[in-house]
Amino acid sequence: MSHPLRFACTQCGKCCHDLRLPLSVDEAIIWLRDGGEVKLFCEAIPWPDEPAPDNLQARHKKGRSFPAQSGELPVRIVATLVASFDGPCPHLQADLRCGAYERRPRTCRIYPAEANPFIALNPAGKLCPPEAWGADKPVFLIGETLADAGLARTIAQSREWDVKDLGAKAQVCAALSISTAALANEGYAIHSPPGEKLLDALTAARVASRESAAGYAEPVEWGLVSNRSATRAVLGEIGARVVPEFSDISGISGISGAMEYLPFYAAD
Ligand code: SF4
Ligand code: SF4
Repeated sequence: MSHPLRFACTQCGKCCHDLRLPLSVDEAIIWLRDGGEVKLFCEAIPWPDEPAPDNLQARHKKGRSFPAQSGELPVRIVATLVASFDGPCPHLQADLRCGAYERRPRTCRIYPAEANPFIALNPAGKLCPPEAWGADKPVFLIGETLADAGLARTIAQSREWDVKDLGAKAQVCAALSISTAALANEGYAIHSPPGEKLLDALTAARVASRESAAGYAEPVEWGLVSNRSATRAVLGEIGARVVPEFSDISGISGISGAMEYLPFYAAD
């Protein structure tokens, strides 16, 4: 039997600072109505063929992405709504309690557990202090099973909303002319639409996607961005529409607001 992992939150408040908090559509609407800032982190997964049904990683990626096209290359777009703030969360109170406790996002409810079924919980990668994982703390995880059934349900709901929100996210991108993504695993194209425009688009898309059987907007052609010339060359060879020069995207703005590129690797 696996050694149990023990944990209890010390309420140190570290996980409420300097965050990029993934949100569902409903949570993003609440965050924006509270006056917070929400960005869209976009990445594109090349999807030339449907993977085998027993490829569980691919099924997971498909469940979190909507179909699109980049030139001749079929892709799937992962568009993540992200509450973004440096320093303390706008809801964090002086006593380090959450001022929006009842409506806090699922990501906050889940931490430090992992929502991604393919990522194992590693205390060393979490912000919680060592004493939070002490031997005197209650059992948190045994093998892959969380001791708290309520937390397991919240994680399951988070994954369900990842899937249910795809149609609305596709519609929001179309409505705001957001059609540039980073190549997945190389970085993010980060779009910062004006808050009011994003709120209107999310509210309309939420209604429309839940009334529509298909759920997706008309496919939009996406441009792919990379800061690595080798990547741009390969994407060009396989027929993708590549944003030609990295410097071209630095000043893009308009209805979709400003866009930045957050690379995971140094430019070549
Ligand atoms: S919403 Fe609450 S729990 Fe989540 S980061 Fe902000 S203060 Fe922390
Ligand atoms: S970092 Fe960990 S211990 Fe500190 S408040 Fe967040 S969940 Fe609790």
